Amino acid sequence: MTATETNEKTQEFENVTLYTSGMFGISATACKTLKVTTGVRYAQYNDAIRVEYFEPRKRNGRRLILDYKPWLRVVDTANAIRPADPLIHTGSGAKVSRYSSFDPRYVTDFEDALIGVPVLLAIGAGDREKCMRCTTRVAVTHEGGSHVCPVCAGEIRRENGDV
Ligand SMILES: [Zn+2]
Repeated sequence: MTATETNEKTQEFENVTLYTSGMFGISATACKTLKVTTGVRYAQYNDAIRVEYFEPRKRNGRRLILDYKPWLRVVDTANAIRPADPLIHTGSGAKVSRYSSFDPRYVTDFEDALIGVPVLLAIGAGDREKCMRCTTRVAVTHEGGSHVCPVCAGEIRRENGDV
């Protein structure tokens, strides 16, 4: 292996809860120890995230690589909150998923739930749109959604992301 320049930077935490986003919402993982390394070269990505952690009472550590639009949050376990259940109970006793797979609202709903919770590390931001007139920020829907502001009926423009 040849020596290459690297922008890797590692942060370490203890007794934290790691939140990651997946197909149907946010997963919470309690970690006894957690290392998060940014600036990782992985496949065609120059800025992937490597996550390594040990769960309490488990002997083997686990490792994840987050590459495309990485998103994670780290919260002291004493302050951790539970992500919303991705399944909703219907009146007839059946369960349906809250949104379709990879709907950005899984992430933005959780970001909203975290308001007021001390976050030790935040990487990435959910896709939101911004009203040009009243600056209300609205979660983007996977389906494209309405492009009219729910507050003032003004035009809404995407703020970040390229969904
Ligand atoms: Zn508006």
